[in-house]
Amino acid sequence: MSQTQVPPVASNDNVEAVGELPAQTLYDKCVAVAHNLWWSWHPEVVNLFRDLDPIRWRQLDHNPIALLKEFTPEALEARAGEMVLYSRINHAYRRLKEYTSSKKTWSAANAGVLGAKPVAYFSAEFGIHESMPIYSGGLGVISGDHVKSASGLGVPLVGIGLFYDQGYFRQRLDDDGYQIEEYQYTKVEDLPMQPAVSPDGEPIMVEVETRDGVLKAKVWLVQVGRVKLYLLDCDVEGNKPEDRELTSRLYGGDQRTRIRQEMVLGVGGVRALRALGITPGVYHLNEGHSAFAPLEVIRHRIHHDGMSFDDALREVAQHTVFTTHTPVPAGHDRFDANMVEEHLGPLRDQLGISHDQLMGLGRVEPQNENESFCMTVVGLKLSRRANAVSSLHGHVSRRMWAHLWPWRVEEEIPIGHITNGVHTQSWLAWQMLHLYDRHFPAGWRTQVGEADAWQSIHKVDPGELWETHNALKNLLLAFVRRRVSRQCRRRGESEESIEAARNVLDPNILTIGFGRRFATYKRADLFLSDMDRICGLLNDAERPIQIIFAGKAHPKDEPGKQLIQRISNARHDDRLKHRIVFVEDYDINVCRHLIQGVDVWLNNPRRPLEASGTSGQKVVLNGGLNLSVLDGWWAEAYDGSNGFAIGVGTSHVSDEETDHRDAEHLFRVLEEQVIPTFYQRDVDGLPLQWIKMMMNSISTLAWRFSSHRMMMDYTRSCYVPAAGGVSCDMP
Ligand SMILES: *Cc1c(COP(=O)(O)O)cnc(C)c1O
Repeated sequence: MSQTQVPPVASNDNVEAVGELPAQTLYDKCVAVAHNLWWSWHPEVVNLFRDLDPIRWRQLDHNPIALLKEFTPEALEARAGEMVLYSRINHAYRRLKEYTSSKKTWSAANAGVLGAKPVAYFSAEFGIHESMPIYSGGLGVISGDHVKSASGLGVPLVGIGLFYDQGYFRQRLDDDGYQIEEYQYTKVEDLPMQPAVSPDGEPIMVEVETRDGVLKAKVWLVQVGRVKLYLLDCDVEGNKPEDRELTSRLYGGDQRTRIRQEMVLGVGGVRALRALGITPGVYHLNEGHSAFAPLEVIRHRIHHDGMSFDDALREVAQHTVFTTHTPVPAGHDRFDANMVEEHLGPLRDQLGISHDQLMGLGRVEPQNENESFCMTVVGLKLSRRANAVSSLHGHVSRRMWAHLWPWRVEEEIPIGHITNGVHTQSWLAWQMLHLYDRHFPAGWRTQVGEADAWQSIHKVDPGELWETHNALKNLLLAFVRRRVSRQCRRRGESEESIEAARNVLDPNILTIGFGRRFATYKRADLFLSDMDRICGLLNDAERPIQIIFAGKAHPKDEPGKQLIQRISNARHDDRLKHRIVFVEDYDINVCRHLIQGVDVWLNNPRRPLEASGTSGQKVVLNGGLNLSVLDGWWAEAYDGSNGFAIGVGTSHVSDEETDHRDAEHLFRVLEEQVIPTFYQRDVDGLPLQWIKMMMNSISTLAWRFSSHRMMMDYTRSCYVPAAGGVSCDMP
């Protein structure tokens, strides 16, 4: 970096601390901004970090703390001089400061009761940004979007999770297209984490007793806008070597690892809050992993307030909200009686209940000794408010758990629904953001959860919307080519095939994206069920299509891995190889590229197994169209004019028959609707009918499926009543 003349720092920045960090210099300001994940949903700030060193930015997984470490304060000043970054850095710093100190929020007017007693939101994973790999997929990303919207709306909420220093695995495919899992250590020093301290300034350490010893965990603080996220970490002195690794990997290890992690998250999490001096008014359990938390709160009520177990349970349930995400029975965490006694024994002693009583809390039929202890059942029994994550998933969940309330008819099973949504600013491309800024009413960015803000999309010039979309599509193709040619190089393929990868795909062709976990029910290979027909569509001389795939299979999901292999080996098939690519290592970054650039997002799960799905909601924001089975969120979103439906919302009792019908429908919709509409152009080359659908999709869906709308729903119908405010029921 050349040492150029350094202009003086703008003097109107009377610098104050952001959080804990006093900022005096330009470098300090950058560091302060990098330590609040607020930066991650502000494209202007992301671009600022990128401009410091675009190549290292990419190599460092978009991690600004790691990037800043490569600069001395002097070098940073010099670079800022070269790149004219002064005002941008000062501006970012000032905006962050204003944001964190602002009191005028939606919540101030709508959720006053939460004031001093915040919501404690528990989740096993948080997907906030790719540089913080403590998530695996949809569940983590929804948690990340949840805390970001709590921040945006000013809802008093703290997050509780675990810190996994190896996170989830990174995916690579071997020469046969078979998935290899690689675990990488993340350095704490490179993440925006600091030790959480008690009100008197002491670092916090929590302990959780089991029958065979004590588990210890330290607690980290991560600042996400206005929200504090606390992460428990078992890698501490005093733990046995194997326990120091307990929180190394997300969903690693066996059942025993699982229950121990869940003890730390639930019981340890509640203890951490107490040590922090936080008294939550609401406990929100996001999925069953944290369902031990209310047991610890009950224990405290018994010992602190002298309540009976039954009274304490009723009281605590009143303040507990439970969200279920899993429509398949096999997807729920279950533990056998020995495992439960080994881990919950000491807590049970203090609760003053018998082993059978405790087991009963995790069983549909409390006396049935053949039933294992199910975390979802515990969550449902210990919460007064429970919800599924889409309307259809609500129906499925009520049916699935009807036997917990045998005296009720199905419609009155107390599980409602709040449909998932995504954090608009995190998933919206900046090019699209600027387009909206030009045409939408002032202040729309803070009202993304309301319909009004989005109606101006119909006033946008179709050509401008189309051009912006195509710019994003080109960026996606550049990204895919870079990734796919790198994959070829790593596998040691010939120069010829690396060169082919550098030019794979064509920006003029209708581009379909499919990025999701490779679980078999998601049927990534549905379109391969009729090879002649799909090859015909891919290679049509006039109106071809191309498909980009990405996704990980769970390490123990052999059929899922075979699916990946089948798709990725399309590169050996002359009929497919120019038109189908597989991008390795699906994560937030890959997802962001895909959802911002595709024309069509394909989702063909076996109905009704997709609880909600959120990736398609991200596509909407950027002008892509959904082509999906009427499952999860799409079952309530599709209106005939805002995307494409596969099937008519029915399923057959035989999977084989369902698959057969859905594949037939998929081909028909492609041939009769998607392809003709996309390629039908006016004299200027614009697909006007298609652009109209893009606009309909944006105006009808973007606000409804935003996490701001979701957060407002949770606040009104769960948090406020659970905290003792006026009730407003869930649909
Ligand atoms: C949004 C997202 C998901 C969730 O997508 P689905 O529609 O539920 O498949 C999964 N993984 C990542 C990395 C995401 O960003």
